[in-house]
Amino acid sequence: MTAADSMHQRVVRLLDFDSYKELLRGLTQFGDREQGTARNAAAVDWIEEKLRGWGYETSRVHYMYTPRPVQGAPSTGPQPEPEPREEVYATKIGSTNPGEMYILSAHMDGRGGGEAANDNGSGTALVMEIARALASPGVVSDVSIRFALWNNEETGLNGAEAYVEQRAELQGIENPTGSGHYPEPRWLGMIQHDMMMWDHGNPVTFNQALDADVDVEFQLNSAFAEQSAQLGLVLINANRLHATDYPAVLSNAMSNTDATPFMNLVPAVSLRENRRLYETGNGANPHWHQTTDLFETFSDADFTLGLNAAQTTLGAVAKLAGVRIRKQ
Ligand SMILES: [Zn+2]
Repeated sequence: MTAADSMHQRVVRLLDFDSYKELLRGLTQFGDREQGTARNAAAVDWIEEKLRGWGYETSRVHYMYTPRPVQGAPSTGPQPEPEPREEVYATKIGSTNPGEMYILSAHMDGRGGGEAANDNGSGTALVMEIARALASPGVVSDVSIRFALWNNEETGLNGAEAYVEQRAELQGIENPTGSGHYPEPRWLGMIQHDMMMWDHGNPVTFNQALDADVDVEFQLNSAFAEQSAQLGLVLINANRLHATDYPAVLSNAMSNTDATPFMNLVPAVSLRENRRLYETGNGANPHWHQTTDLFETFSDADFTLGLNAAQTTLGAVAKLAGVRIRKQ
């Protein structure tokens, strides 16, 4: 390891297994956090309180979402009206390049009537645990890092789409001029996390599979495919250097995730327990969108896969954004 690698490793070691689990447990107290419900709104508040508690300023994106018509309802007569929705983000401001940033994200909404523990409490807790670690005393970053917890993923990526729609054109603009304040730092890359804990093989076995891994995906059919693949390789290398238990692999068919609205604008990748199209979409997770997606369903081996994804992302971002720990 180089001296820089060792510093990044010290940063990655700020992640804590029990803290990750506790954040996940905290999210599951709200049930499945389905968009439009009081439990979803309460979860957004809870996430925001946690981020503020670690010293971050937070912001919310406000947007309108039109619920889908109830299945079987007549297409004539009253149609669903748009309703207001919200999602929260926080930013670690770069010490030398505050006007540029990496976006680390996960969707906090869920469905299925359980606790949406794995989909996607696991990704939300991952992003929050990284935010907590980066708020530790003495930790500085050259480039800004934003933690975004999307809403309305399960209804069709509406929260991430609203963010792109509202904020893409604000990138890199200092406001007020001369203030050194950039409400929307220029996007350097986007790393999404969705379903992080369960790789029990397919056919599914009781225990975490012996060859369980973190799946990093980019989309070959996107404007930034080459740059996204490069970003993916930085994650694979960070996994080799810094992940304690599980390897990571890179593939090219990213789909059905909040990185999709970003992928033609900026290098974008997604991290998951399985490849979305070929594994998740083929029955690799029997708890997906089910009442059994509960905190208690998962073992420490499962939680550890989630933590390894966090180590992978933080190792990569530490390198890309120039994160270091100052002497106190
Ligand atoms: Zn999901």
